[in-house]
This record gives sequence, structure tokens and C-alpha cells, in this order.
Amino acid sequence: MAIRFSVLKCACLRSLQLLGVYMASSMSVAAEPPLPATEPHSYANPQQIRVREVALDLAVDFERKRLSGTVDLAIEHVDPKARELLLDTRALDIEQVQTRAEKGDWKAAEFKLAAPDRVLGSRLGIAVPGDAQSVRVRYSTVPDASGLQWLTPEQTAGKRQPFLFTQSQAIHARSWIPLQDTPLVRAPYRARIKTPKGLRAVMSAEMHDEPDADGRWRFEMPQPIPSYLIALAVGDLAFKSTGKRTGVYAEPSMLDRAAHEFAETEKTIELAEKTYGPYRWGRYDLLVLPPSFPYGGMENPRLTFVTPSVITGDRKLVSLIAHELAHSWSGNLVTNATWSDFWLNEGFTTYLTYRLTEAQYGQAFGDMERVLGYHDLLDSMERADVADRSLIRETPAADPDEVFSSIPYERGELFLVWLEQRFGREAFDAFLRGWFDDHAFKSATTAQFLAYLQDKLLARQPGKVSTVQLDAWLKVPVLPDSAVLPTSSALTEVEQQRERWLSGKLGTAQLPAKNWAVQQWQLFLDSMPERVTLDQLRQLDARFKLTGTSNQILGSSWLRLRLAAGDKSAWPAAETYLLGAGRMRLITPLYRALAKTPEGLAFAKQVYAKAAPGYHPIAREAVERILRGEQAGV
Ligand SMILES: [Zn+2]
Repeated sequence: MAIRFSVLKCACLRSLQLLGVYMASSMSVAAEPPLPATEPHSYANPQQIRVREVALDLAVDFERKRLSGTVDLAIEHVDPKARELLLDTRALDIEQVQTRAEKGDWKAAEFKLAAPDRVLGSRLGIAVPGDAQSVRVRYSTVPDASGLQWLTPEQTAGKRQPFLFTQSQAIHARSWIPLQDTPLVRAPYRARIKTPKGLRAVMSAEMHDEPDADGRWRFEMPQPIPSYLIALAVGDLAFKSTGKRTGVYAEPSMLDRAAHEFAETEKTIELAEKTYGPYRWGRYDLLVLPPSFPYGGMENPRLTFVTPSVITGDRKLVSLIAHELAHSWSGNLVTNATWSDFWLNEGFTTYLTYRLTEAQYGQAFGDMERVLGYHDLLDSMERADVADRSLIRETPAADPDEVFSSIPYERGELFLVWLEQRFGREAFDAFLRGWFDDHAFKSATTAQFLAYLQDKLLARQPGKVSTVQLDAWLKVPVLPDSAVLPTSSALTEVEQQRERWLSGKLGTAQLPAKNWAVQQWQLFLDSMPERVTLDQLRQLDARFKLTGTSNQILGSSWLRLRLAAGDKSAWPAAETYLLGAGRMRLITPLYRALAKTPEGLAFAKQVYAKAAPGYHPIAREAVERILRGEQAGV
């Protein structure tokens, strides 16, 4: 996922690619500790019975807000004596469960759905005979499933058709598919999705351009992926190609603007391949979602889901795409085995993102991105509980969504930058490439990363890095003193100009902001000292028309600043903004700024009551935590 505003994210060929893939992934790595048998955020028992393939056959019912149909799970009896398959579910209506032996008929199976846990959902235990090869669950989702968002036509760009999209990360796949919902388990998947006429289904998989005669869209993801990367969207969608492997899906009214914005994606893929090895997923397409998508982007393989808030017409926010693309290596190819290892996904991806933006748009651009990321980190460190300030927690968080912050992203990135400095860029690039190749299509833990680091870098260049230093990066709640902090002369200049402006030495008209890049504006606004006066803010607005800016990123920064300064005249604009946006990174700072005073909190609650129906369930949770007075999170 991308959380920062960041200017931040043919069948025969395929089988050949897969052969290469599996040959690479079968290479063993010396002395790596094994993966854990189970994972705290899942009821699954893959050490006994493991799901090897997922096949969905679902119909989409917009009127009842339900997906209904079947999932077939091909299973392997890892422990030949095991007779119960444990699956994760959340608020699913389970109608029937069957099992089948190889070439046999489907037979009814006994099952037991446990009482729901607030975070984990309900454990589904299924009795499976020793010869069962497949399990079929017939089920429906509920209208408020946590991983699904059903939008009315009014909530879309085109206003004519409804829209549905999924967000499975971290543990929401279980709210629309009963399965082993843990990144410990990877499986290929197939799907048939029946949609109402005139609507198109897209998934994180190989797609066919037309539905079959029954109105079903067919999909196949041949590579084994973790459950959180299974993704579906249905709506009035059109497609436009932007390169030999790249293209954009969007509502027709957005399509041309989106294709223009993301036209350079193929180039970013080529840059990534140069350093980190081949892109192994076939196509890389983008799906532009309606504004209520709660994240910047979601790295669903072959089909990144992306917020429309980065479509600005000037391609200045494309590092978001670099981020989501980088997940094709860190996250999707090599996956955090547990949510406590989240930094393996996001720290690596943030490091790759900055390297890619630097390679594509130049050092100065990359430096600005890094500095803004560092500011995000400081902000998150200040707000996070002590237990969440290190890269790995002593005990797992109760709910992975609750501890979501910049820390695994930006602190993870600084850790890798520090390693790069210790061993040199060339050696570190080769190390990362090896990590991806040797763990391709596998899930990995921090302990495995450390063993690999020891084997491939530390043992070969002894004395450069100590265990104490590694522990300081991973386990200590404060940033190590040896962190290599980013600097940007373009941003330092803005800070100096801001200082002179604040002290009255530089008039508002003299600020050279007309030429500022969006990152410079972000820095100017986001880290404005509290001593700025309302009068100074009004002068800025008069000169640069910041209220109502079409750049949603700057719009959020600007309104947050006015609200934080106690400017009640910003409330109507804030309300309009909060009713029109849904990306958590844009809306939560405004709610947080309002919630600082009792009067502001009362107003925030009124606005939220109106805006909530348009927000994603994950975003609603995040806002409600703020309105309850909990500070952590996005
Ligand atoms: Zn990410």
C-alpha cells in the first residue's frame, strides 16, 4: 500500500516464465530459519492441511450488496492424520460445505462456524476425510463486509452505474472469501465473476476482454500469491493501453486523463528490471478507483488499484506508481510472512520507490521525496505508541489496521539506506536482487532476512555491521543515531524562505512559490511552525488561491493548516473537502485537526455523519478512532 501523498505508486510464454520462476524459487538458501507454522492474525492450520489453489465462482448483486456463489479450495494433507481444515471468515453466510476425493463426487461435509472475534472474524472448521482433495464452500457476503465497498452511481465519476471494489489487505479477504487468510499461505487462483449487463469485472489476474455467453468474466492468476492480493472491482470500466505491458482501466470519463497521467509506467518497469531483476507478472495495469478508495494505491498483482487523487495532469505524483510497481518485487514476489514483518513489504518498497524516482526524475526529485518521507516518519513516531516505533514489535498488534503508520515504510527505508552506505550501492543492489531471486514467490520473516543478510553480506564483509546495530534498527523505539538522514537543497531553500516570510522579512508577493514543485509546497505547508498567524495564512490564500485548489494533496495540507490555526472560516471548505474525498491520508489529518477542540470535535462528528456513507469501511474505522480520541494510525 502507499500511504504517503508522495509526489510522492500468451499461455505458452507464461508456462516458460513459470518454469523459470519455480526453478529460481526452488534454490535453497543456507541456514535460514523455517517459517512459523501459524500466524497470530489467522485461524488457519496450514501445517496440517494447506490450501494449494483457490477457484471462485461468484455473482455480483448490487441491489442486495452481496457476492454469492462458491469457492473451491484444492487442499494438501501436509499432516496425513489431520481431519479438520481451518479457514478464516468474517461475517459470511455459509450455506453449504462439501468435499471431494480425486475424481469423486461432491459430498456434504460437516462444518462449524465459531463465534466471531472482533478483529479476526469467525473460525470455520471443516471435517475433511483423508482422501479429500477439494473443499467447496457455498456462501454469500453481507452488505457491510469489511473488504468490500459498494458505491451507488452518485458516488462514481460517471454517476450512471454502481461500482464495487475489494480491499483485502491486511485481513479482509476473509470478509468476501472463506480461505486461509494469512500471508504464510500462497496459492494461485482462478475466478468466474458474473456481473449485471453493461458492467465489467477486473481482477488481480490474467483477464479476458469479453465475458462468456453466461455473462461471466474469467480470470486466472497462475503464480502463487497470498490471500491479501486477491482483488476484484466491478463497474463501468474502459481500458486504454499505455505501453507494451501497461494500460489503464478507469471509468470512461476519467480514462484519457488517467492514461496521460500514467503514460510513463513502462519506463519505470524497465528501470526497476535493470536493478532488481525481471518483472515476473506479465502485464502491469492500473485501475483508477472512485475517490472513496481509502489508500493511495494497493499493489494487487498485475492490476494496481490507485486513488484518483494523484491525477493532476502534470505527472507530478507518479512516485505513487513507482511505489506500487516496486511491490511487484518487495511484497508480491517476496511477501511478509506475518503482519509483524510488514516492514519487509513496505520498508523495502519505500527504498525501491526512492531509487526508482531518483533514476527516472533525477537526484533532486528523489531527495525531495526522501525528505518528505522523513517528515512523515517523525510525525508518526511522535504519535505512535512506544511499542509501534520500532520495525518489529515484541508482541503482535491486536489488529494490523490499527497500527498502520509511516514507520514500517520510512524507518524501514532508512535502515536499508544505512545498510547501503555500509556496504556500497553496488554490493547492496546485488544483495537485494539476490534476496528477490532466492525468495521469489515465497513468504519471508525478518529472521530469514537477517540470516540472508548474515550469509550474503555480513559474513563476506565482516566488521561493518554489528548485531547490536541491527537490533537498534529493528527493536529499539528510537531512531539510531547512525541513521543517514536525507537532505534536499530545494526544500532547505523553501524552509529558509518560509522563515524570512514568517518573520516579515519577505513579503507574500515575494515568495517564489509560483515555480515551486508540489513537494516544495507540501513541505512549506506541512511543517509550518505554529506561530504562523491567521493574517499570514489569509495573505497566502489571497495570493496563491490555495482554498479550493484542484490538487487534492495540497488541498488537504492547506485545510489542515487553517484548521490547526483555529481558522473557523475554513470549516465550510473542510466540510466540502471531507464529503468529496475518501483517501485516509487526505481526510484523517483534517479530522485530527478539528478534534483538537471540543467545538471542532462536535463539528467533525456532524461532518462525519454526512460523509461516512461515502467512506470505505477501513477509512470509517480510522476516522472513528480519531473521533474517539485515539491518536495512533494513519
Ligand atoms: Zn506499499
